[in-house]
Amino acid sequence: MKKRKEKITCFCENVIEAEFPEKVDLVVDPHVEEEILNGTFMAVKCPHCGKILKLEYPVRIIDRNRGIDIFLIPEYERAPYLTGKVVYNVGKRVVIGFPELLDKITVLRNGLDDRVVEIIKYHFMQKAGPELDIKIYFQNIENDKLVFHIHGLKEDEIGITHVSLSFYRRISETLEKDVDSEPYREILTPPYISANKIYIGGPTN
Ligand SMILES: [Zn+2]
Repeated sequence: MKKRKEKITCFCENVIEAEFPEKVDLVVDPHVEEEILNGTFMAVKCPHCGKILKLEYPVRIIDRNRGIDIFLIPEYERAPYLTGKVVYNVGKRVVIGFPELLDKITVLRNGLDDRVVEIIKYHFMQKAGPELDIKIYFQNIENDKLVFHIHGLKEDEIGITHVSLSFYRRISETLEKDVDSEPYREILTPPYISANKIYIGGPTN
């Protein structure tokens, strides 16, 4: 695991030195996948005050057995990355921020096509309207239905919605035909394949 050394100042002003991976191969380090799923990846506990600091640094995550190659851009670099002000040597996929990383890994673990999942999310975003800054994350498959969590419909509330696998398959079947028309093309242009490209932030951002 290639690592970077960082100095982090805690809220209590204690300075912590910690190492973070620059590149992870999940075949060699499968525990990283568990850490991503349970939210402890890149989390550091301050030895002075005990607070858990959740940090985000750029990292490339690969798994040659499953064809995973995801580059995490920290959330604070969303705008600089999307406007080309910061450039990384990324792989097949880019995600911005931990929630998108967790979502992408979960989609791939469930054997789903992340392109189809992003198109489904786009449909929800369109339904909600551009004035709502909603974020949609895939959770799991339950009784032939894809389960999604929707953030931002109501304050402090997570909406749950289900999509049938037959709807997923329908989108999957027409994907190649639709890929050249907007907004599909924008959403599906790699490496950042994401419905969040269409609705970036709300009207207040
Ligand atoms: Zn502290």
